[in-house]
Amino acid sequence: MPIGGGFAKVPGETVEIGGNAFQIFPHNPRQWAARMPSDDDVVRFLRDVKKYELNPEYFMCHSGYLINIASTKDDVWKKSVELLELEMKICAKLGIKYLNIHPGSHLGAGEASGIEKITTALNIVFKKEKTVSILLENVVKKGGNIGYNYAQMRKIIEGCESSDRIGLTFDTCHGYDAGYDVTDPSGIQKLYGEIEREVGINRLKFIHLNDTKNVLGSQKDRHENIGNGNIGLEGFKVFLSNHTFSSIPLILETPGDNLEHAQDIAKVKEIYQSIVYDH
Ligand code: MN
Ligand code: MN
Ligand code: ZN
Repeated sequence: MPIGGGFAKVPGETVEIGGNAFQIFPHNPRQWAARMPSDDDVVRFLRDVKKYELNPEYFMCHSGYLINIASTKDDVWKKSVELLELEMKICAKLGIKYLNIHPGSHLGAGEASGIEKITTALNIVFKKEKTVSILLENVVKKGGNIGYNYAQMRKIIEGCESSDRIGLTFDTCHGYDAGYDVTDPSGIQKLYGEIEREVGINRLKFIHLNDTKNVLGSQKDRHENIGNGNIGLEGFKVFLSNHTFSSIPLILETPGDNLEHAQDIAKVKEIYQSIVYDH
């Protein structure tokens, strides 16, 4: 959801487009600059959360794009840790329990040193802010990215002292582009099995429900509106027929603004109505 008009508009606009869950940025995601929201904005935000009877368990923030806690460049890493801490404090002030991050890119330094940087960073921020949980989002395998499989997620979790404060977001576009066939029952079982085996399925807190412009395993990451891409309406129907994946909150990160997102939400609701669950 857009935050240009302040956080206070988010609950109302979410309901207006047919939603009951949302993701926001805690600040302009393309800048290092960030500040705490005003008391007035927070009060009005919380008032509307109540007014529209929204469940805070369905709210998440997405970390800024400049942050890279896997960076082996000291200045970037330090700035990233500082901004991540501030983002957690913004989340806490808004009563948002989850902050979604991309694990980061080691930029050629290698997976092991990247993961070490990530765990060091998380151990610092978990000590500075003690309430918000971090969600690790799966990514595609490009540019030294860490987090394109769940063995990597496990290594991050194992390196954290407060590992009870780490959850997962599964992004369907990133997953499909990384080679997880979410349109096929055996692909879905494989994904489920890998998450369960490596970190436990209970860590999965959100789905980023995005269609993709690219083909299975393309390692590209370009989102498409629901039904217009290579996952497609049928593919989402298969994916959401899985009880686990269909019973956790879904967040759209599809192209367009509120109008397009309202259309995507309507399509997702139709998919749910077309699924016949076996109990
Ligand atoms: Mn993301
Ligand atoms: Mn995503
Ligand atoms: Zn993406």
